[in-house]
Amino acid sequence: MKILVVNAGSSSLKYQLFDMDTNEVLAKGLCERIGIDGIVTHKCPGKADYKADVDFPNHRAAIECVLSLLTDKEKGVIASVEEISAVGHRFAHGGEKLKKSAILGDQELAYLESIVGLNPLHGPPAISGLKACKEVMPSVNHVGVFDTSYYSDMEDYAYIYPIPYELYEKHKIRRYGFHGTSHRYVAGKAAEMLGNKDAKIITCHLGNGSSITATVNGKAVDTSMGFTPQDGVPMGTRSGAIDPTVVTFIQKAEGLTAEEADKVLNKEAGLLGISGISSDCRDICNAAAEGNYRAALALKILVHNIKKIIGSYVAEMNGVDAVVFTAGIGENDRQIREDVCKDMSFLGIEIDEAFNQSCKRGEFADITAKGAKVKTYVIPTNEEYMIALDTQNLTK
Ligand code: AMP
Repeated sequence: MKILVVNAGSSSLKYQLFDMDTNEVLAKGLCERIGIDGIVTHKCPGKADYKADVDFPNHRAAIECVLSLLTDKEKGVIASVEEISAVGHRFAHGGEKLKKSAILGDQELAYLESIVGLNPLHGPPAISGLKACKEVMPSVNHVGVFDTSYYSDMEDYAYIYPIPYELYEKHKIRRYGFHGTSHRYVAGKAAEMLGNKDAKIITCHLGNGSSITATVNGKAVDTSMGFTPQDGVPMGTRSGAIDPTVVTFIQKAEGLTAEEADKVLNKEAGLLGISGISSDCRDICNAAAEGNYRAALALKILVHNIKKIIGSYVAEMNGVDAVVFTAGIGENDRQIREDVCKDMSFLGIEIDEAFNQSCKRGEFADITAKGAKVKTYVIPTNEEYMIALDTQNLTK
């Protein structure tokens, strides 16, 4: 069974074609600058990478280009589009109703359109991508996989904010959580490694966007991102959690509109805002190593906040069996992992620092110190595979 996974952004469309019988990625690529001009990058194992300028006036042109590359005699991997059994689409937000991955019919599409106000950045392009794919591939099922759905079993006391309850009822303001597909994947892998599906697991997805999730018995019980991906640990350009009054104070003190204040906290804060150098953790680490005070401070604030959330989740779950690091920083930045796990022996978290420094990047590693009560793993995330798997399960 061959499944196409599509992740549509406002001006980009990422794709991967999976062979689910062999678990292989047959091809993957990226259409960029949709609506501007257009570039496509297409990669198939064993073949030369292909990159070209192609005019993409809209998402439909991009998906048509993807299908022609996949079926191309030289650059392609399938003889015809008929070989694609189903398409899986990544959605950041499934609102309160789409609690599980689902085949997207007219009703589901109408619901997704009704909640774009909750998800103004990612919702509209993902819907455009879905509509374009449905037009071009009308005879197969299209499945939506939602980042929020992993959190749909959280208790009400974990997702209701302590604000007037009417605001939840009226505007659906609550903790939704994001990155759920990644947390579900790595928590599942960790449970497999532990040989315990009931395990208590804390997964740290640390990338340009970062979130931490607590999982018990295969279900998320709490997560650091909230109503939007702005909550939780400091990120590349997002502040993460701050005293909410800072927002209205900045607005008044700097004479900013709500949109401008939002931009400061989303695009100009986090690692970039503290360091004044970059949103990229590698640049910050280099600057810190050269003695830059604000770069070093940015890293300390990041580590401090990750530790706080891990500690709070251990308290919430009354223990933890494994801590997992994943995504760009979690999988690659050995120093951040070491700093986060330092002085956590009271909780049973201790890592083998020498192995943590030497283990291979981008691969699974058990970096637990000998005799430590809690396992610490590095697990490369694979959201696309998870989307393909859900799509297969719903359509086979
Ligand atoms: P992601 O959003 O998962 O792609 O992660 C992006 C973040 O991962 C950026 O802050 C990068 O600096 C960081 N990152 C990627 N590769 C490395 C690496 N080799 N060492 C340290 N950080 C890295």
